Amino acid sequence: MLREALRIGSRRWYSYKSVRRPNLGATSAPKMEPPKKQPESSSKAESGDGSLAKQLRAKILSTGPIPVAEYMREVLTNPQAGYYMNRDVFGREGDFITSPEISQIFGELVGIWLVSEWRKMGSPSPFQLVELGPGRGTLARDVLKVLTKFKQDAEFSMHMVEVSPFLSKAQAQRFCYSHQTLPEDSQLPHYQEGTTASGTKAFWHRRLEDVPQGFSLVLAHEFFDALPVHKLQLVDGKWQEVLIDVASSDGAQEGSFRYVLSRSQTPVSSLYRPLPGETRSCLEHSLETERQVGLLAERIERDGGIALVMDYGHFGEKTDTFRAFKQHKLHDPLVEPGSADLTADVDFKLVRHIAETRGNVHCCGPVEQGLFLQRMQGEARLEQLLAHALPENQEIIRSGYEMLTDPAQMGSRFKFLAMFPGVLATHLDKYPVVGFS
Ligand code: SAH
Repeated sequence: MLREALRIGSRRWYSYKSVRRPNLGATSAPKMEPPKKQPESSSKAESGDGSLAKQLRAKILSTGPIPVAEYMREVLTNPQAGYYMNRDVFGREGDFITSPEISQIFGELVGIWLVSEWRKMGSPSPFQLVELGPGRGTLARDVLKVLTKFKQDAEFSMHMVEVSPFLSKAQAQRFCYSHQTLPEDSQLPHYQEGTTASGTKAFWHRRLEDVPQGFSLVLAHEFFDALPVHKLQLVDGKWQEVLIDVASSDGAQEGSFRYVLSRSQTPVSSLYRPLPGETRSCLEHSLETERQVGLLAERIERDGGIALVMDYGHFGEKTDTFRAFKQHKLHDPLVEPGSADLTADVDFKLVRHIAETRGNVHCCGPVEQGLFLQRMQGEARLEQLLAHALPENQEIIRSGYEMLTDPAQMGSRFKFLAMFPGVLATHLDKYPVVGFS
């Protein structure tokens, strides 16, 4: 399948020129730098005073310090002023750049991987292509091209899970021939629908729960790192929570946001139960990740399907990764909330644990992105693209692929984890999952 896909791919589904990825200048770093802050430090004062900062400050002053998770959720997805809600934040002009935006090879290989594993499962039809947090829709577009080529007679629909009204329109423009937003009072589980040039129906949902039941191929690229995290610390044998407060006067500038440790236990710190073998005394825990992975696992067990989680992360060893990115540079997450992306590394140990315990799910990985792409014969695809590219595009194509696979760039910090129905575990031992072994 892999070889077949690459051979057909050499006919060029579309030229590199027509999908030219952003030119990666020296300042265009992906959001992958190590964290630099300690949670207890106070932040410097904001230079601006946006409405979001005012709202957050008013809330804290009236009801007390809030969990980092609540701050993160408000800053990223507040319906009026949330970071993702009303602008394009990606690419050279934005704050960070992601793998599908760097090279078409990324989405093509992910698409080929999906088709190859779907075929091993007997090519169930119809199926749903689901993407959580599709950004500009570039990965969905590249995967759609592969599926359209290789789905044989199978029928499929596309289901985007997206909270941002602005980005959902950008996604539709990227891969739909026509689209429309439904009226506010619509009772349907989607809020936008469209049709691609090849006639595939596409739907936009606010939550994974709203995606119809059915065999699904689910993608999540840099989605889980955007979900809120709680910060917890072990003090005298008890978990306490790091909260966000407003400084009054003592040292920090009055009115600025700062981290404080809760005096007593919070609902999250008292209910938190570490995974077996936990040795950290300070960590980040995402209840929202737990919830969404649980839903995904139940869905895969009930309806059948495959999920591929792609993100930067660790395997339960990191302690302090909550950070912000603004114009491709690290930024203080407590300064000018809403003006910068907030993110935290994904804890793949937690993702795997939840998937395996909440549903009967068989997980593969995590494996490093560089290894996955190499095992998917990324270099062969690179050579094909280079053979057909204009001389002035050669360098950008080569450096894009290098950026995705080089361990010093995105090759090892980004990881892939796959989920399959647990009933297939023995089958998958016999026919190992491509890219993971
Ligand atoms: N996958 C894309 C974009 C990553 S940025 C890429 O790799 O280029 C995170 C995406 O998740 C954005 O589209 C953002 O609007 C969306 N998002 C963030 N929080 C979300 C939530 N709670 N529910 C649904 N979508 C969310």
